[in-house]
Amino acid sequence: MPLPTVAIIGRPNVGKSTVVNRLAGVQDAIVYDQPGVTRDRTYKRAFWGDREFQVVDTGGLVFDDDTEFLPLIREQAMAALAESIAAVFVVDGQIGLTSADEEIATWLRQQPVPVLLAVNKCESVEQGVTQAAEFWQLGLGEPYPISGIHGNGTGELLDQLITYLPPAEEISETEEIRVAIAGRPNVGKSSLLNAFVGETRSIVSPISGTTRDAIDMLVERDGQTYRLVDTAGIRKKKNVEYGPEFFGINRAFKAIDRSDVVLLVIDALDGVTEQDQKLAGRIADEGRGCVIVVNKWDAVEKDSYTIYDYEKIMRDRLHFFDWAEVIFISAKTGQRVEKILDLVNVAAEQHKRRVTTSVINEVLEDAARWHSPPTTRQGRQGKIYYGTQVSSRPPTIALFVNDPALFNDNYRRYVERQFRQSLGFAGTPIRLLWRGKKVRDMERGNVNRATRV
Ligand code: GDP
Ligand code: GDP
Repeated sequence: MPLPTVAIIGRPNVGKSTVVNRLAGVQDAIVYDQPGVTRDRTYKRAFWGDREFQVVDTGGLVFDDDTEFLPLIREQAMAALAESIAAVFVVDGQIGLTSADEEIATWLRQQPVPVLLAVNKCESVEQGVTQAAEFWQLGLGEPYPISGIHGNGTGELLDQLITYLPPAEEISETEEIRVAIAGRPNVGKSSLLNAFVGETRSIVSPISGTTRDAIDMLVERDGQTYRLVDTAGIRKKKNVEYGPEFFGINRAFKAIDRSDVVLLVIDALDGVTEQDQKLAGRIADEGRGCVIVVNKWDAVEKDSYTIYDYEKIMRDRLHFFDWAEVIFISAKTGQRVEKILDLVNVAAEQHKRRVTTSVINEVLEDAARWHSPPTTRQGRQGKIYYGTQVSSRPPTIALFVNDPALFNDNYRRYVERQFRQSLGFAGTPIRLLWRGKKVRDMERGNVNRATRV
């Protein structure tokens, strides 16, 4: 498992950045009194006892006000929490309980992560206990009086925090990449799996996947571990009877849902069929990285086709998939099989990539300069105020605009093309969320998926 993340949540000015620096042991950081708007989420490494983690600072969370960039900050905080193993909710012990704290607490109580309540600015230990007491009513368990500035109380907080963290030996810095091999029956999935196992050689432990009767397999190459998802749904063992569902499309869909990168295996002799398109659609919908693997290339009459002609015909049938790399291989002869994992590495890297807010806004400014947003007959023109990446896997960028209805599909596609041209993202889908200034989108689900608007 990768380094676990702890999100620091709270309203503006309660001392979140100060607490982050304290937990991360950053001594000399100066905390500026700046509004949280332009601040990207920052990740800082922290140690306590034998546990290691990273703390992520979030902008000040405010629920009852949609002015300026507050919806964006809120979205950032939600995205940060979604990828965290635990959260520290910071409140201000000198000011006392506020209604904004209550709103945040209500939201936090609904989240599936443990929350620790830190009552900051309690420099005096005796007073701190009294100051902290009223925060019991937030329903988040024991309030910990601390001082981010002086450091008192943070030891107790950290002692409790690390009980939620995995032991060091479970953390590996190079994350495994989860790979699904998907494709119609007989395209050569199990041949490819065998070719991989021969190719990678090391390992190879079959381990239970999360769904019933799914077996994953770990393979390793050049220090990188790959988890081949649900190989039981691929391998046909002799003398074993499997029901029709075993190799069915639902099973393929489930494997896709659990992966970072999908190898979409296509039979070179058949070309892209309707079922291939269906699988491709699922991969894009689920936001997975993808490499298109055209198998049985050895069996194709090379006189009638060149790779380029072939790729062109194929791309036409998968036109919404132009971001995915294509590789022509033969699982049978082993031709180019060893190159597949190189493409998987690129796709996985791009899939989890984070781009800073300033870079995103440069692309947006450039895009608007070349091609201004559309204007209605009544003279209203679309305006993009600001963009920021709210999550990764796949990269998801929220664009705050005056009115999403003013941006037609053409312009949206244009902006997406600009992002691809400037930033690449080879091998991964990206998502753009067009948000009006007044959006009040409190559901976490809307941040993470299903909001391809
Ligand atoms: P954020 O907006 O929540 O990230 O808050 P900051 O970390 O920027 O801190 C806001 C203000 O509170 C700054 O003026 C800090 O110096 C002050 N502050 C932070 N922690 C403490 C603390 O433990 N005690 C006191 N007295 N002030 C603090
Ligand atoms: P699966 O159903 O997708 O797992 O497909 P299999 O791996 O069982 O392969 C189906 C058939 O295609 C078998 O007869 C294989 O020998 C054949 N096959 C697989 N890969 C290749 C290849 O690269 N070239 C050729 N010519 N045949 C292949």
